[in-house]
Amino acid sequence: MSSGFTISFAKQVIIVTGGNRGIGYAYTRAIAKAGGNVAVIYRSSKDAEEVTNKVGKEFGVMAKAYKCDVTDTALVKKTMMQIRDEMGPITGLIANAGVSVPKPAFDLTHEDFKMVYDVNVFGVFNTARAMAKMWMDEGYKKGSIVITASMSSQIINQAAQNEPLMQVFYNSSKAAVSNLTKGMASEWASKGIRVNAISPGYVNTDQTLHMDKKVRDFQAHAVPLRRFAEPHEMTGQALLLLSEHASYMTGGEYFVDG
Ligand code: NDP
Repeated sequence: MSSGFTISFAKQVIIVTGGNRGIGYAYTRAIAKAGGNVAVIYRSSKDAEEVTNKVGKEFGVMAKAYKCDVTDTALVKKTMMQIRDEMGPITGLIANAGVSVPKPAFDLTHEDFKMVYDVNVFGVFNTARAMAKMWMDEGYKKGSIVITASMSSQIINQAAQNEPLMQVFYNSSKAAVSNLTKGMASEWASKGIRVNAISPGYVNTDQTLHMDKKVRDFQAHAVPLRRFAEPHEMTGQALLLLSEHASYMTGGEYFVDG
Protein backbone atom coordinates (compact mmCIF):
# COMPACT_ATOMS: atom_id res chain seq x y z
CA MET A 1 0.00 0.00 0.00
CA SER A 2 1.38 3.41 -0.92
CA SER A 3 1.63 6.03 1.83
CA GLY A 4 0.99 8.74 -0.77
CA PHE A 5 3.99 10.68 0.60
CA THR A 6 6.56 11.27 -2.10
CA ILE A 7 9.11 13.99 -2.59
CA SER A 8 10.03 14.93 -6.12
CA PHE A 9 12.33 17.71 -7.28
CA ALA A 10 11.68 17.14 -10.98
CA LYS A 11 12.43 20.27 -13.06
CA GLN A 12 13.94 21.99 -10.02
CA VAL A 13 17.49 23.30 -9.57
CA ILE A 14 18.96 23.07 -6.08
CA ILE A 15 22.35 24.35 -4.94
CA VAL A 16 24.34 22.36 -2.38
CA THR A 17 27.42 24.09 -0.97
CA GLY A 18 30.06 21.53 -0.03
CA GLY A 19 28.03 19.07 -2.11
CA ASN A 20 31.03 17.15 -3.42
CA ARG A 21 31.86 15.17 -0.27
CA GLY A 22 30.65 14.14 3.18
CA ILE A 23 27.13 15.11 4.20
CA GLY A 24 26.81 17.50 1.24
CA TYR A 25 27.53 14.69 -1.21
CA ALA A 26 24.74 12.64 0.39
CA TYR A 27 22.40 15.62 -0.13
CA THR A 28 23.52 15.89 -3.76
CA ARG A 29 22.77 12.24 -4.41
CA ALA A 30 19.42 12.32 -2.61
CA ILE A 31 18.22 15.37 -4.58
CA ALA A 32 19.34 13.79 -7.86
CA LYS A 33 17.62 10.53 -6.92
CA ALA A 34 14.42 12.55 -6.34
CA GLY A 35 14.71 13.89 -9.91
CA GLY A 36 16.24 17.28 -9.08
CA ASN A 37 19.05 19.03 -10.92
CA VAL A 38 21.94 19.85 -8.59
CA ALA A 39 24.54 22.63 -8.64
CA VAL A 40 27.41 21.71 -6.33
CA ILE A 41 29.54 24.50 -4.89
CA TYR A 42 32.98 23.49 -3.67
CA ARG A 43 36.15 25.27 -2.58
CA SER A 44 39.18 23.37 -3.89
CA SER A 45 38.74 19.58 -4.19
CA LYS A 46 40.33 18.42 -7.44
CA ASP A 47 37.75 15.67 -8.07
CA ALA A 48 34.62 17.76 -7.42
CA GLU A 49 33.64 18.03 -11.10
CA GLU A 50 34.14 14.33 -11.77
CA VAL A 51 32.22 13.32 -8.63
CA THR A 52 29.32 15.66 -9.51
CA ASN A 53 29.15 14.61 -13.18
CA LYS A 54 28.94 10.97 -12.10
CA VAL A 55 25.89 11.70 -9.95
CA GLY A 56 24.19 13.40 -12.91
CA LYS A 57 24.83 10.39 -15.14
CA GLU A 58 23.73 7.87 -12.50
CA PHE A 59 20.34 9.52 -11.92
CA GLY A 60 19.76 11.06 -15.37
CA VAL A 61 19.61 14.67 -14.12
CA MET A 62 21.72 17.77 -14.65
CA ALA A 63 24.52 17.95 -12.05
CA LYS A 64 27.27 20.55 -12.35
CA ALA A 65 30.10 21.59 -10.03
CA TYR A 66 31.04 25.25 -9.50
CA LYS A 67 34.27 26.29 -7.79
CA CYS A 68 33.35 29.15 -5.46
CA ASP A 69 34.47 30.21 -2.01
CA VAL A 70 31.29 30.80 0.01
CA THR A 71 32.94 33.69 1.87
CA ASP A 72 33.48 35.72 -1.34
CA THR A 73 30.39 37.92 -1.75
CA ALA A 74 30.97 38.98 -5.36
CA LEU A 75 31.90 35.47 -6.47
CA VAL A 76 28.87 33.88 -4.78
CA LYS A 77 26.56 36.33 -6.56
CA LYS A 78 28.30 35.74 -9.90
CA THR A 79 28.20 31.95 -9.44
CA MET A 80 24.48 31.96 -8.65
CA MET A 81 23.78 33.95 -11.80
CA GLN A 82 25.92 31.52 -13.79
CA ILE A 83 24.00 28.56 -12.31
CA ARG A 84 20.66 30.22 -13.15
CA ASP A 85 21.81 30.89 -16.73
CA GLU A 86 23.27 27.41 -17.30
CA MET A 87 20.78 25.24 -15.38
CA GLY A 88 17.58 27.27 -15.06
CA PRO A 89 15.81 29.07 -12.20
CA ILE A 90 17.12 28.00 -8.78
CA THR A 91 14.43 26.68 -6.43
CA GLY A 92 16.37 25.68 -3.31
CA LEU A 93 19.67 26.04 -1.47
CA ILE A 94 21.43 23.84 1.04
CA ALA A 95 24.08 25.96 2.77
CA ASN A 96 26.16 23.09 4.04
CA ALA A 97 29.85 24.02 3.62
CA GLY A 98 31.62 24.16 6.96
CA VAL A 99 35.04 23.74 8.53
CA SER A 100 36.52 22.91 11.90
CA VAL A 101 39.94 23.48 13.45
CA PRO A 102 40.43 20.55 15.79
CA LYS A 103 42.73 21.99 18.46
CA PRO A 104 42.54 22.21 22.25
CA ALA A 105 41.27 25.61 23.42
CA PHE A 106 44.71 26.65 24.72
CA ASP A 107 46.21 26.29 21.20
CA LEU A 108 43.53 28.19 19.27
CA THR A 109 44.57 31.47 17.62
CA HIS A 110 42.76 34.55 16.37
CA GLU A 111 43.47 33.30 12.82
CA ASP A 112 41.70 30.00 13.64
CA PHE A 113 38.73 31.99 14.98
CA LYS A 114 38.51 34.08 11.82
CA MET A 115 38.77 31.01 9.56
CA VAL A 116 36.03 29.03 11.35
CA TYR A 117 33.63 31.96 11.72
CA ASP A 118 34.27 33.22 8.20
CA VAL A 119 33.16 29.95 6.57
CA ASN A 120 30.64 28.59 9.11
CA VAL A 121 28.85 31.84 9.93
CA PHE A 122 29.58 34.44 7.26
CA GLY A 123 29.71 31.85 4.45
CA VAL A 124 26.25 30.53 5.37
CA PHE A 125 24.86 34.06 5.66
CA ASN A 126 26.55 35.12 2.42
CA THR A 127 25.09 32.28 0.33
CA ALA A 128 21.64 32.46 1.96
CA ARG A 129 21.44 36.22 1.44
CA ALA A 130 22.55 36.01 -2.21
CA MET A 131 19.90 33.34 -2.80
CA ALA A 132 17.15 35.32 -1.07
CA LYS A 133 18.10 38.48 -2.97
CA MET A 134 17.94 36.65 -6.31
CA TRP A 135 14.51 35.21 -5.47
CA MET A 136 13.17 38.59 -4.36
CA ASP A 137 14.56 40.34 -7.45
CA GLU A 138 13.05 37.68 -9.72
CA GLY A 139 9.70 37.50 -7.89
CA TYR A 140 10.07 33.83 -6.90
CA LYS A 141 7.85 33.33 -3.85
CA LYS A 142 8.43 29.85 -2.41
CA GLY A 143 12.16 29.33 -1.97
CA SER A 144 13.54 27.03 0.69
CA ILE A 145 16.96 27.41 2.30
CA VAL A 146 18.28 24.58 4.46
CA ILE A 147 21.40 25.11 6.57
CA THR A 148 23.62 22.42 8.07
CA ALA A 149 24.22 23.57 11.66
CA SER A 150 25.19 20.99 14.28
CA MET A 151 23.84 19.47 17.49
CA SER A 152 26.75 21.33 19.10
CA SER A 153 24.82 24.57 18.56
CA GLN A 154 22.93 23.61 21.74
CA ILE A 155 24.71 20.68 23.36
CA ILE A 156 28.35 20.57 24.35
CA ASN A 157 29.35 16.93 24.60
CA GLN A 158 31.15 15.78 27.67
CA ALA A 159 34.86 15.31 26.95
CA ALA A 160 36.51 11.99 27.71
CA GLN A 161 38.91 12.29 30.64
CA ASN A 162 42.07 14.19 29.60
CA GLU A 163 40.90 14.20 25.97
CA PRO A 164 39.74 17.69 24.96
CA LEU A 165 36.90 17.82 22.40
CA MET A 166 38.87 20.42 20.41
CA GLN A 167 35.74 22.17 19.13
CA VAL A 168 35.43 25.40 21.09
CA PHE A 169 35.28 27.75 18.08
CA TYR A 170 33.41 25.23 15.92
CA ASN A 171 30.66 24.71 18.52
CA SER A 172 30.16 28.41 19.17
CA SER A 173 30.07 29.12 15.42
CA LYS A 174 27.23 26.59 15.10
CA ALA A 175 25.32 28.32 17.91
CA ALA A 176 25.62 31.47 15.82
CA VAL A 177 24.35 29.58 12.75
CA SER A 178 21.32 28.39 14.72
CA ASN A 179 20.47 31.98 15.67
CA LEU A 180 21.20 33.25 12.16
CA THR A 181 18.68 30.73 10.79
CA LYS A 182 15.90 32.13 12.96
CA GLY A 183 16.79 35.73 12.11
CA MET A 184 16.84 35.18 8.34
CA ALA A 185 13.64 33.11 8.53
CA SER A 186 11.89 35.92 10.36
CA GLU A 187 13.14 38.64 8.02
CA TRP A 188 12.25 36.82 4.79
CA ALA A 189 9.06 34.95 5.78
CA SER A 190 6.83 37.64 4.26
CA LYS A 191 8.64 37.13 0.93
CA GLY A 192 7.74 33.43 0.86
CA ILE A 193 11.27 32.29 1.72
CA ARG A 194 11.66 29.58 4.35
CA VAL A 195 14.93 29.07 6.24
CA ASN A 196 15.54 26.02 8.44
CA ALA A 197 18.54 24.24 9.94
CA ILE A 198 19.43 20.59 10.30
CA SER A 199 21.63 19.81 13.28
CA PRO A 200 23.44 16.51 12.86
CA GLY A 201 25.11 14.61 15.64
CA TYR A 202 28.45 12.99 14.83
CA VAL A 203 28.59 11.81 11.19
CA ASN A 204 31.31 9.69 9.56
CA THR A 205 32.98 12.15 7.15
CA ASP A 206 36.43 13.70 6.67
CA GLN A 207 35.53 16.12 9.47
CA THR A 208 35.40 13.36 12.09
CA LEU A 209 38.32 11.32 10.72
CA HIS A 210 40.82 13.17 12.93
CA MET A 211 39.19 11.85 16.11
CA ASP A 212 41.28 9.65 18.28
CA LYS A 213 39.73 6.16 18.66
CA LYS A 214 39.31 6.57 22.42
CA VAL A 215 37.43 9.87 21.98
CA ARG A 216 35.34 8.45 19.13
CA ASP A 217 34.30 5.38 21.17
CA PHE A 218 33.49 7.54 24.19
CA GLN A 219 31.33 9.89 22.08
CA ALA A 220 29.59 7.04 20.21
CA HIS A 221 28.74 5.40 23.53
CA ALA A 222 27.06 8.63 24.69
CA VAL A 223 24.65 8.52 21.74
CA PRO A 224 21.49 6.49 22.52
CA LEU A 225 21.87 4.69 19.15
CA ARG A 226 25.51 3.97 20.18
CA ARG A 227 27.09 4.96 16.87
CA PHE A 228 27.97 7.85 14.58
CA ALA A 229 25.63 8.45 11.63
CA GLU A 230 26.36 7.81 7.97
CA PRO A 231 25.93 10.89 5.73
CA HIS A 232 22.85 9.49 3.95
CA GLU A 233 21.01 9.43 7.28
CA MET A 234 20.82 13.26 7.17
CA THR A 235 19.02 13.38 3.83
CA GLY A 236 15.43 12.58 4.86
CA GLN A 237 15.15 15.73 6.96
CA ALA A 238 16.93 17.88 4.34
CA LEU A 239 14.63 16.77 1.53
CA LEU A 240 11.55 17.30 3.65
CA LEU A 241 12.59 20.86 4.54
CA LEU A 242 13.44 21.67 0.93
CA SER A 243 10.10 20.40 -0.28
CA GLU A 244 6.62 21.89 -0.26
CA HIS A 245 5.62 19.30 2.37
CA ALA A 246 7.37 21.68 4.79
CA SER A 247 5.43 24.75 3.64
CA TYR A 248 4.54 25.72 7.25
CA MET A 249 8.05 25.11 8.63
CA THR A 250 10.44 28.03 8.94
CA GLY A 251 13.00 29.21 11.48
CA GLY A 252 13.31 25.69 12.87
CA GLU A 253 16.37 23.73 13.90
CA TYR A 254 15.87 19.98 13.50
CA PHE A 255 18.16 17.56 15.30
CA VAL A 256 19.23 14.39 13.51
CA ASP A 257 21.52 13.14 16.24
CA GLY A 258 20.71 9.51 17.10
P1 NDP B 1 33.54 17.73 5.01
O1 NDP B 1 34.75 18.23 5.69
O2 NDP B 1 33.44 16.30 4.62
O3 NDP B 1 33.26 18.63 3.69
C1 NDP B 1 33.26 20.01 3.77
C2 NDP B 1 32.71 20.56 2.47
O4 NDP B 1 32.62 22.00 2.56
C3 NDP B 1 33.61 20.27 1.28
O5 NDP B 1 32.81 20.02 0.16
C4 NDP B 1 34.38 21.58 1.07
O6 NDP B 1 34.80 21.81 -0.27
C5 NDP B 1 33.30 22.58 1.45
N1 NDP B 1 33.86 23.88 1.85
C6 NDP B 1 34.58 24.16 2.96
N2 NDP B 1 34.91 25.46 2.98
C7 NDP B 1 34.37 26.02 1.88
C8 NDP B 1 34.36 27.34 1.33
N3 NDP B 1 34.99 28.35 1.95
N4 NDP B 1 33.70 27.56 0.17
C9 NDP B 1 33.05 26.53 -0.47
N5 NDP B 1 33.03 25.27 -0.01
C10 NDP B 1 33.69 25.02 1.15
O7 NDP B 1 32.33 18.16 5.98
P2 NDP B 1 31.07 17.34 6.51
O8 NDP B 1 30.37 16.69 5.41
O9 NDP B 1 31.48 16.56 7.70
O10 NDP B 1 30.18 18.56 7.07
C11 NDP B 1 29.24 19.24 6.27
C12 NDP B 1 28.52 20.22 7.19
O11 NDP B 1 27.93 19.51 8.27
C13 NDP B 1 29.45 21.25 7.82
O12 NDP B 1 28.79 22.48 7.94
C14 NDP B 1 29.71 20.65 9.20
O13 NDP B 1 30.08 21.62 10.13
C15 NDP B 1 28.36 20.05 9.51
N6 NDP B 1 28.37 18.99 10.51
C16 NDP B 1 29.18 17.91 10.38
C17 NDP B 1 29.17 16.92 11.35
C18 NDP B 1 30.04 15.70 11.27
O14 NDP B 1 30.11 14.95 12.27
N7 NDP B 1 30.69 15.42 10.17
C19 NDP B 1 28.30 17.03 12.54
C20 NDP B 1 27.48 18.21 12.56
C21 NDP B 1 27.52 19.14 11.58
P3 NDP B 1 36.20 21.14 -0.79
O15 NDP B 1 35.95 19.67 -0.93
O16 NDP B 1 36.47 21.80 -2.09
O17 NDP B 1 37.22 21.45 0.27
